[in-house]
Amino acid sequence: MSFKSLGLNEALLKAISKKGYTTPSPIQQKAIPKILEGRDVLASAQTGTGKTAGFTLPMLDIMLQSKPLHKRPIRALILTPTRELAAQVMDDVRSYSEFTDLRSMVVFGGVNANPQIKTLRQGVDVLVATPGRLLDLHSQGAMSFNKVEFLVLDEADRMLDMGFLRDIKKVLALLPSKRQNLLFSATFSKEIKKLAGSFLTNPVMVEA
Ligand code: AMP
Repeated sequence: MSFKSLGLNEALLKAISKKGYTTPSPIQQKAIPKILEGRDVLASAQTGTGKTAGFTLPMLDIMLQSKPLHKRPIRALILTPTRELAAQVMDDVRSYSEFTDLRSMVVFGGVNANPQIKTLRQGVDVLVATPGRLLDLHSQGAMSFNKVEFLVLDEADRMLDMGFLRDIKKVLALLPSKRQNLLFSATFSKEIKKLAGSFLTNPVMVEA
């Protein structure tokens, strides 16, 4: 299987080949077609499996199928447990979208919020965030979630371990009900299954 045969946009294929990837990893082969079909996905994948490209590439592909909306409301929201992971996911999103006009940014706590608020005002299509700072900025009116089409919970097990369940629930309550949900987790505890059951609609399960 090749990335081209997955039907991805030319601009994404160009970025993939610039990264030097030749073949989709197993999680990518399984997750990308399902996400492109519009399904909610529950994925079991460790770091190092290529999971980030597994959820990012199909989301970017779907977003490229329609013109960027005026003012660029947030269309994709990716939640991660730590700022290190958020920054890493951001780097990946940037490199995969290099040859597109989609804009992305990352917000996390522990740094001054003002520059983040300024950049948000300019409009972003993809936002990568840690839950606490995201809620902070939202409560300050720095962003609207009205146009969110995709929600990704990356390393969901670590988010629960770090006590983010309440924040995740708060974010979920602020999103439009019609959206596509992707949950990636290395492990599947009872708590993860319960969380997945609470917000995924008829999900496809994929394993790395
Ligand atoms: P991740 O599991 O998303 O943290 O990705 C692990 C590493 O694999 C990252 O450095 C990616 O750049 C790289 N990677 C992702 N997909 C592929 C692929 N299909 N072929 C080769 N490397 C990849």
